[in-house]
Amino acid sequence: MIVLKGKPIFGGITKGKIIFFHKKETVVSKCEVKDPQFEIDKYESAKRCALEEIQKLYDCTFENLGREDAGIFLIQQMILGDIDFDNAVKEIILSEGLNADFAVAQTVRNYSTMLGKIDSEYIKSRSADLKDICDRLIKHILHLSGNKFKLTEKAIVCAEDLVPSETMGLDRKNVLALCTKYGSANSHAAILARTMNIPAITGIGCGLTEDFNGKTAIADGYDGTLYIEPDEKTVKRLFEKEEKEAKKRELLRRLKGRKNITLDKTEIKIFANISGLSDVDSVIENDAGGIGLFRSEFLYLENDCFPNEEQQFFNYRRVLERMQGKPVVVRTLDLGADKSIDYFGLPQEKNPALGFRSVRICLNDPDMFKTQLRALLRASVYGNLSILIPMIIDIEEIRQVKELINQAKKELDLRMQDYSNNIKLGIMIETPAAVMLSDLLAKEVDFFSIGTNDLEQYTLAADRQNSMIDCTLPHHHTALLRMINMVCINAHREGIPVGICGELGADCSLTEAFLAIGIDEISVNPSNILALRSKIRTLNLSCKQEILKKYGIT
Ligand code: PEP
Ligand code: MG
Repeated sequence: MIVLKGKPIFGGITKGKIIFFHKKETVVSKCEVKDPQFEIDKYESAKRCALEEIQKLYDCTFENLGREDAGIFLIQQMILGDIDFDNAVKEIILSEGLNADFAVAQTVRNYSTMLGKIDSEYIKSRSADLKDICDRLIKHILHLSGNKFKLTEKAIVCAEDLVPSETMGLDRKNVLALCTKYGSANSHAAILARTMNIPAITGIGCGLTEDFNGKTAIADGYDGTLYIEPDEKTVKRLFEKEEKEAKKRELLRRLKGRKNITLDKTEIKIFANISGLSDVDSVIENDAGGIGLFRSEFLYLENDCFPNEEQQFFNYRRVLERMQGKPVVVRTLDLGADKSIDYFGLPQEKNPALGFRSVRICLNDPDMFKTQLRALLRASVYGNLSILIPMIIDIEEIRQVKELINQAKKELDLRMQDYSNNIKLGIMIETPAAVMLSDLLAKEVDFFSIGTNDLEQYTLAADRQNSMIDCTLPHHHTALLRMINMVCINAHREGIPVGICGELGADCSLTEAFLAIGIDEISVNPSNILALRSKIRTLNLSCKQEILKKYGIT
């Protein structure tokens, strides 16, 4: 038996076969070929397939986002139809007698080097199109169709690391557990695993190798241990442990229908975080008071192209209907950093967490943003909707958002489509800038929701994706607690409520501090709701000042 330790992400004990997740990277090697004409034919056929795919992408983008955004695919078509590009590939195949995939890769490399020397951001950004074309052609030449990892049986999925789109692409019903070499507790892949209720362990390190592929293992998501080829004694011990945990969960279930109230009668709301419609069952099952954070970007991550207004409307409407009038806070598109999507064509950045992400992307592309806003507005008549804007750093941004909401409303008026006039607008407080401006921002919006995951990374200068610092990081940093306190004071002064929707909200060792600060609502993964309720019901806040002092807040 081999025992590997990592970070526990989501509890649960499960036994099964290990299957390694492979990224969709393709390896191109240089080979001399006997029949260059055969390689030319392969290249020509790959070009036809690639052109067809690009046409589909063009049509889909045109329909959803308009001509300007679809233009990127016209450029790709032009490159593929370019006679010089064509000649360059064929020249390598014919005169050097090399394989078609290598010829494509080499031609693209030469073009990229040329573009890199031109002093124009626009031209340089075309390198991404070249890379896209290159990948597409090579995929067809090598017949690597269906680049999605397919899981055809139940398994413990192991990987180097997973980005959110990869996690979303996994067939949930076949994933017994997720175990990764790298990855931190606050990464989006980890958050997704929690929302999906999949036992998960990250940061196992180099001990997790592909040699274990096909071997039987037990993943213990409670303490983050992976046992490869476990002995009988271990299997028995772990099954007993799981039985005990199940009993604890059973006890917690008795708290369903009870209030989230402290011994001194302070009541607080507990809401749920979701990433899509399929999570609503678990929200209802765990008796959440509402949905405090619907990460809408996962609708985009699930799709191969932009979800159009109807698709989005359908999803928001169903979530609102299923929540039967309980509050539902939908966060607008929060893409970028680790959440990137191929079809979005986001630029490669050195520091994506500090780059083109979230509301910045939305304000840069008002047509795309308004598609989401119209879908949300239309859905608002089916329930109790609030809209939450992520990554705000300035008042001007929120004013721009409001202007776009007004435009979206006028567009619906023209179409004679209804929307509610009671939609609340809130912002995420997840940058130190938003904390420092919280007195002014509170005058602009109806509520605040503190995103501790990002607030922590930007305040403590600690990349949330980096597993090396994850374990050394003081998650209960006093600076963070003081910031939360400051936000709360400023919000309450303007009469608006404050919630916490980051992962720290589920950390029961801080619940007392959050309640003493005066947080109005905590939104956590559905599986954490009852444990949090249980904790709240044991607390006594009659000496708030002492509690604040105890945590170094005042
Ligand atoms: C946060 O940053 O705390 C948050 C809730 O948003 P996300 O984890 O999706 O960035
Ligand atoms: Mg965030």
